[in-house]
Amino acid sequence: MIAEILAIGDELTSGQRLDTNTQWLSQQLETLGIEVLFHTTVGDDLEANIQVFKTALSRANLVIATGGLGPTDDDLTRQALANATSTRLKLDADSLEHIQRRFSMRGREMPPKNQIQAMFPEGSRVIFNPNGTAPGIDLDYSVGMHHSRFIALPGVPAEMKEMWTATVAPSLAGQGTAKKVIRHHVVKCFGVGESHMEALLPDLIKRGREPRVGITVHQATISLRITATGTEAAQCEAAIADTVKQIHAAVGDLVFGEGEEELQDVIVRDLLAQGKKVATVESSTSGLLAFWLGAVDDQRKAFVGGHIQPPSELTTRESVEKAAAAIRQQTGADYGLALGTFCEADSSDDYFVALASADGVESKASGLAGHPEIWGPRMAKQGLDLLRK
Ligand code: ATP
Ligand code: MG
Repeated sequence: MIAEILAIGDELTSGQRLDTNTQWLSQQLETLGIEVLFHTTVGDDLEANIQVFKTALSRANLVIATGGLGPTDDDLTRQALANATSTRLKLDADSLEHIQRRFSMRGREMPPKNQIQAMFPEGSRVIFNPNGTAPGIDLDYSVGMHHSRFIALPGVPAEMKEMWTATVAPSLAGQGTAKKVIRHHVVKCFGVGESHMEALLPDLIKRGREPRVGITVHQATISLRITATGTEAAQCEAAIADTVKQIHAAVGDLVFGEGEEELQDVIVRDLLAQGKKVATVESSTSGLLAFWLGAVDDQRKAFVGGHIQPPSELTTRESVEKAAAAIRQQTGADYGLALGTFCEADSSDDYFVALASADGVESKASGLAGHPEIWGPRMAKQGLDLLRK
């Protein structure tokens, strides 16, 4: 079975509102083992909706649409579905009563406009909406040998989710591909660029490998996303564990964590385990080192605090090393971590990080490349990385 998700509304195509319904529905379908191959977003335009509905009905077996079920003139889902499937809209007496009751409960008369919400393409089933006036539509449609099912739900995320869980999901249970189970796991790495990482993992990231391994980078942190597909959860989990082992063997120390973990989470955890503390001093990073360390849960016993200095200070390797030793001395922390940028144009090094400990001071100089927006995070992560060694 192939599914397509349609998100309907001018507020989505104009970028005023983020389409979160499609993301949520995709995840729900995945857990049911139903493959989603298409996401389509369309504005509140009748012709465009008819066209998109026709296309979806012809290439998918299951179409889930959200939005456009309201009573106003820009709510076109009912009409577009009737046109796309050449059916007539028919009044559903039970739905009309439900809508009227919702108004009378609040001591109001139903505006005539709302009657449209009780109109359904002939042959469709009504999806009850306990929280709103817009019921959903569930319609089977066939052309020749191609069968499809069109499900229209309201755009309001809370209403949509409740109707999905109460009515739609149970009706789809068991229709996924041989009860396919999908499991995800993320291995986090820091220390090399994306293409370097790719070169270290040639067999693992080959197309067609099972489990699949994908590489994404965010602010210099590399995520290796493992996706295992199988018929049983235990089998997927074993396959993931084996892939994780292979990743560790291939890239070793570059791995720092998993899932949602960031460098600072892992560092604070290690410091707490060792009963050690760190203090920071930084320039040119707008206080990122201190901000990140200070935002970790439970950091109080591990993070003493941090100084933020203007970019005109800490501009030589020596000054950064000295600052690391000084902050350690002043605060009595086990580690002093410092970071500064170098301003001379003819050097290939752009910044320094230094770590002072009981063993003395070690430092590292590096260059910056890529978009300036990620320079701060990259420098701060390079600094944190010294604490990992
Ligand atoms: P009703 O008019 O009965 O509330 P509807 O089906 O007509 O239902 P819309 O008017 O299209 O829904 O949208 C209602 C609300 O839901 C709006 O605030 C809209 O921004 C939001 N919404 C619609 N589609 C999405 C989506 N794909 N993701 C997140 N929010 C959405
Ligand atoms: Mg709308």
